[in-house]
Amino acid sequence: MENQVNQSAAIPKWSALLIEAVTKPGLIMKAYSVFHPYSVGNQILALVQCQLRGLQPGPINTFPKWKDLGRFVKRGERALTLCMPISCKRRKEDSDEEHTYTSFVYKARWFVLNQTDGQELEPITIPEWDATRALTALNIERIPFDHTDGNVQGFARKRQIAINPLAQLPAKTLLHELGHVILGHTTEAEFADADTTPRSLREVEAESVALLCCESLGLEGAEFCRGYIQNWVRRGNGFDAEAIPEKSAQKIFRAADQIIRAGRSEIDPVTA
Ligand SMILES: [Zn+2]
Repeated sequence: MENQVNQSAAIPKWSALLIEAVTKPGLIMKAYSVFHPYSVGNQILALVQCQLRGLQPGPINTFPKWKDLGRFVKRGERALTLCMPISCKRRKEDSDEEHTYTSFVYKARWFVLNQTDGQELEPITIPEWDATRALTALNIERIPFDHTDGNVQGFARKRQIAINPLAQLPAKTLLHELGHVILGHTTEAEFADADTTPRSLREVEAESVALLCCESLGLEGAEFCRGYIQNWVRRGNGFDAEAIPEKSAQKIFRAADQIIRAGRSEIDPVTA
């Protein structure tokens, strides 16, 4: 049951999953509504596998967890694969000191509700998300908007963000600026975002974080983000997954996940 899956053969890259989410409106929201206890990347990964295998998306659990819930996995059902963090210890070369680091492995361990039978499940409630709670948990301060250029929608510097009171899409702008901070961009430079901000990979990263968050949380602005990222992806070498580097895609999923978890009413146990 714990077979490690060869990633290159069976599992789409994060960049491919991100492009899938960008090109299919509604996919992110659907993934969040059924798989919200899991990380944003795993939500999309689970949904794509359900679609490929014709499974009805629904709650997922491991074999023992279903047993705890009074249900059993039906005979012959194949598990879905998710990516999970594991802690590893490594001894430093010239001393006896050990240090811990996190590594990621793919495991085929999860079954969707329809692959199981047994006791009825309690209805699922999706936790509420609050921007102020997210800012506090992430140790990011919202400061007054003091830019003189009216085209600037918002800006981020170090661990501070500001949103133009006249911003066209304030929720989307807030998530975009939070994205810059969590992605580590503001330790490198200050970001003031106008309608005319030139496209760069950093902007695409921040806008992708905003897309994942806006659509998951049902906030206004996802369509704007989608258009922006699609233009970037279409640029130059055509419509393919190479337009967003794999490393950027990993960063984007991780940042969106951090922002969403930070603003929730309940602290989620770390699953996968
Ligand atoms: Zn920006």
